[in-house]
Amino acid sequence: MNRIEIRDESCKGCQYCVIFCPRELVQIDKGRINALGYNPARFVDNPDRPCRGCALCAEICPDALIEVYRKEKGRS
Ligand code: SF4
Ligand code: SF4
Repeated sequence: MNRIEIRDESCKGCQYCVIFCPRELVQIDKGRINALGYNPARFVDNPDRPCRGCALCAEICPDALIEVYRKEKGRS
C-alpha cells in the first residue's frame, strides 16, 4: 500500500493537503493540538480507496512536511 507520513509537529493546519487529496485520505485531527498550537493534518488510510501515491498532498504543502512512500511494484 502507498502511504504518506506527515511531520505533524510542524503542521499549521492550513488544510491544503486535505483539500487536494483526491482520495480524501488526509484529515485535520481535531482531537490533537501540536507544539505550534494547531490541529495538525493526519493520514487516514482507507482500503476502499487506497492512496494513489500521487504526491499532490506533498507538493501542495507549503512547508514540505509530507513524505510519500510508494509500494514497490512486484516483478512479473
Ligand atoms: S499521495 Fe495522493 S492519494 Fe496519497 S494521500 Fe497524498 S494526495 Fe492523497
Ligand atoms: S498542507 Fe502541510 S501545513 Fe498544511 S495542513 Fe497539510 S501538512 Fe499541515
